[in-house]
Amino acid sequence: MAHPLKHAQNSVKKFGGQAEDYLAVHKWFDESKAFFADFRHRALRHHAEGIFLSETIFGVTITNSDGNEVPVRYIGEQHVREDLGRIPTAQDWLSQIKPQRSSYRKKPLAKRRKVRDNQNVRSF
Ligand SMILES: [Zn+2]
Repeated sequence: MAHPLKHAQNSVKKFGGQAEDYLAVHKWFDESKAFFADFRHRALRHHAEGIFLSETIFGVTITNSDGNEVPVRYIGEQHVREDLGRIPTAQDWLSQIKPQRSSYRKKPLAKRRKVRDNQNVRSF
């Protein structure tokens, strides 16, 4: 969707106050753009678990400049809905990862233990 400022301006329409009241929350959701420049950056925070994590970071509510308490979860839900049209789960994102052969260990752990144990026996 948009720059965090646009999300913050939309928060003002929804919850009152000023854009600066909401900017930190919206910036946090989009910080992952810094290391993944296309839409896939959203896999890290744009989901239900990310919304609850934002609540842990920013608190259950913020008090906007009108003096009203606004649940941070509602701000996160607004952000994710504006970007994606819905609120996915982390599983929705992670299930899109297609494992590559190189993603797996080269040797099963049991074989590596056997090799390590044999090396220990030799060292005595
Ligand atoms: Zn976003």
